Amino acid sequence: MDSRPTIAEVDLAALRHNYDLVARTIPQGCGILAVVKADAYGHGFMDIARELEALGVTAFGVAFLAEGIQLRKSGIDRPVLILGGVYPGQERKCVGFNLSTALFSLEQARVLDDAAGRLYRRARVHAKIDTGMGRLGIPHEEAQAFFRALRELKHLDLEGIISHFASADELDEDGRRYSDLQAGRFAAAVAAARHEGFEPRYVHIANSAAAFGMDLPFCNLVRPGIVLYGALPSGDFEGKMALKPIMRLRSSIALLKWVEPGTSISYARRFTAPDRRLVASIPVGYADGYSRSLTNRAEVVVRGRRAPVVGTVCMDWIMADVTHISGVTVGDEVTLLGCDREGNCVRAEELAEWAGTIPYEIFCGISKRVPRIYL
Ligand code: PLP
Repeated sequence: MDSRPTIAEVDLAALRHNYDLVARTIPQGCGILAVVKADAYGHGFMDIARELEALGVTAFGVAFLAEGIQLRKSGIDRPVLILGGVYPGQERKCVGFNLSTALFSLEQARVLDDAAGRLYRRARVHAKIDTGMGRLGIPHEEAQAFFRALRELKHLDLEGIISHFASADELDEDGRRYSDLQAGRFAAAVAAARHEGFEPRYVHIANSAAAFGMDLPFCNLVRPGIVLYGALPSGDFEGKMALKPIMRLRSSIALLKWVEPGTSISYARRFTAPDRRLVASIPVGYADGYSRSLTNRAEVVVRGRRAPVVGTVCMDWIMADVTHISGVTVGDEVTLLGCDREGNCVRAEELAEWAGTIPYEIFCGISKRVPRIYL
């Protein structure tokens, strides 16, 4: 082996468990568009997509054209929706690779229509309505006029109508009220499309949080991402979903040393041993996505026990205080994220809290130099 023992294991059985949980939660007849953008939130989208395809997923969501093309080239033939839309000049490839794209404006619609016409094909589009996210899409107030104008374009297939919640993961009164407001605006936009004679195959707005937390009878597709990967959309869902983490970031102890009281550890001497301590050096660091903000904050699991990270997280190394762990030895496995074989876990939610971020960023941040192994 030329590299290090630092590896991200991805447990496909846990993915299947999480997928089943979604499938059992949503109404009968509702499909699942699995969001596999950003390399399936850092889990490696080829293997994840193949597994989900075998499970019968309805469609996939990616961020941009190149991700969609990669899915097609790896043999995925389910519908693939480019959630981030196409940029000028990408229309031909979008149609050619049989990808569907989110549509944010009439100008975009005209360019796509023209490109599809030249290919003697129809471009599959999901009109995105901005119901309150304030990021992308046709303002909900303009939906009716938009759909009316869309009727003129003969090479577009309005395959779907889509929107996105801003705070479906906030289950307090304020959060719920805003989500209900968005849902209402979305329902009105869908009605406007029908009024103009469209009957889109897919109507979807629900991310993971909404798929579990909201009743959206006018939708027939949900778009989960984070729950498939085994993390909660937010702390408000604590105890509400029996998810299984699918990624385990593990390494092993490369060096063990006893240090005397007053000995400092790592850059900037941010940790000084208050008494005699046994310190383990572990080959993982911020270049692997183990954030520097975890300095003196995170914990790892060694021999089933928690050990605190001591001192500054380096590019390739961290140190952990393992004084209290009996029998600890060089080569012992270290779990940095996810669960060891006995079920001792460092949850993504915890790591996110320590790092001052969200589980999404923790997963996406595990860098490409960490090999992914699929179990
Ligand atoms: N839909 C859209 C448009 C998104 O941007 C995302 C994620 O960012 C999702 C769905 C999935 O969200 P979640 O991972 O919270 O389920």
